[in-house]
Amino acid sequence: MIYFDHNATTPVLPEAAAAMQPWLSEHYGNPSSVHRAGRLARQAVEEAREQVAALVGAQASEVIFTSGGTEADNLALHSVGGLGARLLVGATEHAAVLEAASARAGQGLELDILPVDQNGLIAQSSLAERLRRDVPQLVSIMWANNESGVIQDIAALGDCAQRAGALMHTDAVQAAGKLPIDFAASPVDLLSLSAHKIYGPKGVGALVRKRHVGIAPMLRGGGHEGGLRAGTENLPGIVGFGAAARSARLELEQRQAHVLGLRTRLEAGLAQMPQVRLFAASVPRVANTCQFGLQGFQSEALLMAFDQRGIAVASGSACHAGSGKPTHVLLAMGYDEDTAHSAIRVSLGQQNTAAEVDRFLSELDDILRQQAPAYAAGLFAS
Ligand code: PLP
Repeated sequence: MIYFDHNATTPVLPEAAAAMQPWLSEHYGNPSSVHRAGRLARQAVEEAREQVAALVGAQASEVIFTSGGTEADNLALHSVGGLGARLLVGATEHAAVLEAASARAGQGLELDILPVDQNGLIAQSSLAERLRRDVPQLVSIMWANNESGVIQDIAALGDCAQRAGALMHTDAVQAAGKLPIDFAASPVDLLSLSAHKIYGPKGVGALVRKRHVGIAPMLRGGGHEGGLRAGTENLPGIVGFGAAARSARLELEQRQAHVLGLRTRLEAGLAQMPQVRLFAASVPRVANTCQFGLQGFQSEALLMAFDQRGIAVASGSACHAGSGKPTHVLLAMGYDEDTAHSAIRVSLGQQNTAAEVDRFLSELDDILRQQAPAYAAGLFAS
């Protein structure tokens, strides 16, 4: 199989799997137990906390382990509250932020959505303009978009939010391991991470928070994670996350150079195809991601055709797959439904090769030739 869907999830790195193994079998202590087995487990959790913190330039004490990026986003948004509290979130956020924000709106918070331009960017001036009207308690803008790969100017946006007196949360699930992140030096109060996007295991993530930020726990129970996230720690998952974070930090430049080379090759090939329109091609994007539309085609039919040929790609977010709805990201960028319905996302990873990119391009060409008559006959009309 050719796997081009690394923004949905990545394979677990052999180093991460090897690091996890002993914590699945011989070392099964509970990190909260005071005996030797428990202390050993505690030490492993704290080492992983250091490794995760180091990936994003944070202090270990700022890392709260969660069950993934979704929980980290929810915990960040859950921590806002009080009479008349407002939330301001970007229009192209992941469902974990958008749905958590609308749940908060259902609980009486004021929710505003910040539009993006046709490249998916939020201009500092439009945030500043918005903040002149009302200052929300929290602004949530993702660092890199999971569908388009677009990188927001978090330094400028966070600065703007903080200067107005708001807290800044950023979902860095797709940015970590792809961009250098310096949490300490960034105008960011809360930052979400997920292990399975950086070659770690699924079901583990973290909310990183500056110490002045109050967290309202969602889960109550024992005093785990400083009382902010109750529940016995996912010991093997956390150890795997730590190992994956360490490799991601050490190999960041080399990994990005690899995927950027492949994407450049891919986009040169796509540029030869008249039906292709690249999205957000002229603005900064994470190096592994390429999203494009195929005028006159529907992504669901294309994805199935690719799947039959052993190639895994996506249209947008895995969370929207199968819903039949076009991606909200492209709609927010001002594209019409037909264009949004034609989107394909290729997200490259470390094992991918130039030969795989070439094969993808030739299969795409073949699929387009086969589907064009069917499309003309109305077989793929919505
Ligand atoms: N935020 C972004 C930008 C994502 O891409 C994802 C996963 O697709 C999430 C949050 C959710 O992370 P998790 O799958 O760890 O819950």
